[in-house]
Amino acid sequence: MSLQIIVMVKQVPDTHNVSGDAMKPDGTVNRAVLPAIFNPEDLNALEEAIKIKETIGGKITAITMGPPNAVKILKECLYRGVDDVVLVSDRKFAGADTLATSYALKCAIEKVEKYDLVLCGRQAIDGDTAQVGPQIAEKLNINQLTCVSEIVEVNETDITIKRSIENGHEFLKSNMPVLLTVTNEANEPRTPSAKLAVAYKNISGKTSDESYDDEYLESGIDDPISYIKEWNVESINADPQLCGLSGSPTKVKKVQSVVLTASDVKQIQNTDEGIAELINELTEEHIIG
Ligand SMILES: Cc1cc2nc3c(=O)[nH]c(=O)nc-3n(C[C@H](O)[C@H](O)[C@H](O)COP(=O)(O)OP(=O)(O)OC[C@H]3O[C@@H](n4cnc5c(N)ncnc54)[C@H](O)[C@@H]3O)c2cc1C
Repeated sequence: MSLQIIVMVKQVPDTHNVSGDAMKPDGTVNRAVLPAIFNPEDLNALEEAIKIKETIGGKITAITMGPPNAVKILKECLYRGVDDVVLVSDRKFAGADTLATSYALKCAIEKVEKYDLVLCGRQAIDGDTAQVGPQIAEKLNINQLTCVSEIVEVNETDITIKRSIENGHEFLKSNMPVLLTVTNEANEPRTPSAKLAVAYKNISGKTSDESYDDEYLESGIDDPISYIKEWNVESINADPQLCGLSGSPTKVKKVQSVVLTASDVKQIQNTDEGIAELINELTEEHIIG
């Protein structure tokens, strides 16, 4: 049995470690001062793909759309056991909203040809919309299972998952092909393999094939890739009008930095009664409870 698995990965600014100058005066994110990291839930999606490959076999392709330096996360994918990686990059993708992003990614997935499973993170920590996965599924016209916290069973024809819903969980089954969005409840992503990191340390993005060098040959990895594929608008057969700014109906009207300031101060007694009174007040105001 061998499944063809595609994992969608995104490089994001590390919004979890925001320093003082992370916002520009106009309220937009100052990407230059925030380190670029692997979107956390994409690592959970990748971990699920690797676990499936280890248990029932398969080939994993990781795809990212981003600037040239996004090859960094594609290398991390190789260090974790991905078989093939693709950078979708072109100035014509600049200014893409989620509609144009999912269109470009759908075209890239179709270029891979055969796929059974497409795995996304639930949400990227910068854009935060959680729209891209479901939009890709709609455009590919395949089933989608969102907010997956566990893959319960998978075989060549169908998959059963557990997903978090308000006040509990539900179990859903779908036939292939299907797109999943995976949450951080699903697993603890593994660390990269030292052996694979050495094997792929010099790999770079190229558009033409090259013969394997000695390090690949000595690595003992079956069929190692020798370059990172780079695809642009033309090579994924995308309509340029549907890409980037021209394909993006979302217009940002205004960016506002909201700073919450305290308007009222109340002192409470450091006693059980004082604390109980505060809790009552917060409950009545629906702030807690
Ligand atoms: C008007 C407008 C203009 C914009 N202009 C730009 C711009 O110029 N440059 C820019 O960087 N961003 C721009 N953005 C932001 C960009 O649209 C989003 O970053 C992108 O669409 C992904 O949305 P998200 O971050 O909400 O991802 P989510 O929907 O939260 O992501 C869910 C999952 O989808 C997958 N995914 C998402 N994005 C990618 C990707 N790029 N590659 C592979 N997988 C992915 C991942 O698995 C991810 O976990 C713009 C947005 C708007 C509204």
